[in-house]
Amino acid sequence: MVVHIEYRTRAMELPLFRKKYQDREKFIACCRECPHYGELWSCPPLPFDADTFLASYAWANLLCAQIRLDEETIRAADTEEKIKATGWEIVSKAKLDIEERMKILETRMPGSRSLSSGGCGLCETCARKENLPCRRPEEMRYSMDAFGLDLTTITKDVFHIDILWCRDRLPEYFTLIHGLLAKEPVPGTLWESAGLSRNV
Ligand code: SF4
Repeated sequence: MVVHIEYRTRAMELPLFRKKYQDREKFIACCRECPHYGELWSCPPLPFDADTFLASYAWANLLCAQIRLDEETIRAADTEEKIKATGWEIVSKAKLDIEERMKILETRMPGSRSLSSGGCGLCETCARKENLPCRRPEEMRYSMDAFGLDLTTITKDVFHIDILWCRDRLPEYFTLIHGLLAKEPVPGTLWESAGLSRNV
């Protein structure tokens, strides 16, 4: 399986970013449709006030990862099960790797906090399902979705990429959006040092 990840980054002042791309009512309503709603600590409903959480930061540093699949990988996934399993494997692996790299950035940007693409996958079953506290609170990161952000529009508007979906075959690429909330924009050299610089 060969995948190649291309990264793009962009910093936006948080008030403007929220004004343009946050609609909690609309997108949290979408989350309520999810069969796993309320079963993951990283996802809605958040166990704290989102406005208070966001108020500590001034900038949204965005990372878009475009995960390109080679033709052989796409061709080899020739059943519905294989499409689902291969897609899941590729995306989960990339997401975990990016989460780790974003945590490296956190250590270099004091007071920053990263947000991940989609729900936390660190445990096989989230403790929230059993009404227990998160087992790895230091490691888990909240999802971008949990704040009611319009990820499709961000991908298109900010990074000029259309999101593709698995249909009767794997798509040419997957897209993930991660964020680093911080007091200032992340310098290009720091993105680079975490292996997340633009390489397209
Ligand atoms: S670390 Fe485990 S318990 Fe915590 S949010 Fe992630 S899956 Fe749930």
